[in-house]
Amino acid sequence: MKNTIEYATDLDDKDILSDYRRQFHIPKSNGKEAYYFTGNSLGLQPKSAQSYVQQELDDWAKFGVEGHFHAKNPWVSYHKILSGPFARLVGAKEDEVVAMNGLSVNLHLMMVSFYRPTAKRYKIICEAKAFPSDQYMLESQVKFHGLNLNETIVEVCPREGEHLIREEDILAKIEEVGDELALVFWGGVNYYSGQVFDLKGITEKAHSVGALAGFDLAHGVGNVKLDLHDWNVDFACWCSYKYLNSGPGSVSGIFVHSNHGSDDSMPRFAGWWGHDESRRFLMEKEFVAMQGAQGWQLSNAPVLIMASCKASMDIFDEVGMDKLVEKSKKLTSFMEFVFNDISTRYSNCNLEVITPKDEESRGCQLSVLSHGQGKEMFDFLTTNGVIADWREPNVIRLAAIPLYNSFADVYALGQIIENYLKNE
Ligand SMILES: *Cc1c(COP(=O)(O)O)cnc(C)c1O
Repeated sequence: MKNTIEYATDLDDKDILSDYRRQFHIPKSNGKEAYYFTGNSLGLQPKSAQSYVQQELDDWAKFGVEGHFHAKNPWVSYHKILSGPFARLVGAKEDEVVAMNGLSVNLHLMMVSFYRPTAKRYKIICEAKAFPSDQYMLESQVKFHGLNLNETIVEVCPREGEHLIREEDILAKIEEVGDELALVFWGGVNYYSGQVFDLKGITEKAHSVGALAGFDLAHGVGNVKLDLHDWNVDFACWCSYKYLNSGPGSVSGIFVHSNHGSDDSMPRFAGWWGHDESRRFLMEKEFVAMQGAQGWQLSNAPVLIMASCKASMDIFDEVGMDKLVEKSKKLTSFMEFVFNDISTRYSNCNLEVITPKDEESRGCQLSVLSHGQGKEMFDFLTTNGVIADWREPNVIRLAAIPLYNSFADVYALGQIIENYLKNE
């Protein structure tokens, strides 16, 4: 690899996905296209999203309530349009997934069904420094069951002086907690470090001690390859506005393994959209759950945000995760190379990539620890057209997204960092 514009444009010329960039609105900074590296936080808008949403606005205007049955995409079953694409993204059967609610809401709904502590088996293993919403979710669930937080939640941390959590430490902790363990709840890709975890291995180990395994895939879906069904994962949830480009606050997805999807004895919070759909409008007493993930729905589908999600899913279906991941690996290793190259050439450069070096243990995101150099450099990047993400105390997170970032974007990022270092 070379840190030159010729090398970067050559890779762009050879990139079979390079045309997809034109299908997205790229935000502007200083009057020109920004270098957007925060697709892991809010994915960019597909240009097609507008017409997909307009279609539903038009049908609403035209049909009013009758749009539930007469719209081009009848609203009564709109959520089902997303099941196929979601299933392909997470490696599930179609009836194991459904689009509904927001992510944190869905995590709570899954906990109702999958976290059923007993006097003996009540502990939850999770990652230290999980995403705050996940921490609050776990904390409030534990309190809801009247349990003591410190005795119930067992966190696995990186070892002293390390930034990543070792897989062997997760497995050892599961073994250790053993028959007191009710659930392993984990982020499939850590939002802070970008570390990808072995969900299959964690699930197997959890099952071997009689516990269940559930995952938050907010940073995994659309970023790395997933095979939830074959891995025997019990449940998972994700949002669609990060790597899936479906718009701010857009709909979340859940996965419930077919091992559980028709288990009527499982407690759950119910609503009319999860009720047997052939009898849904009879408005009868007594909830009868639909089979599969659909049985966890409560409310009727938020069609307008699902429409922008559908716009994005059509792009994902056209490209497929194989090609995306292939390009993602090249883009990310180019970014890593550029950072390393800069570090060796500038003695005043203190950037340390904490994301795993091994391609199988990371996705699009590189987290850069900026020893002492942090906020100032970050502000310089922002002024110079880079949209990145700053996390206290001193990490810059950058994600090069294979659908719309180019190798030239990554090269430009490197040049802006060099300009900062030259003038520091
Ligand atoms: C982004 C993210 C969330 C956000 O939750 P919402 O309910 O969608 O606001 C939760 N957990 C993780 C791990 C995330 O990355």
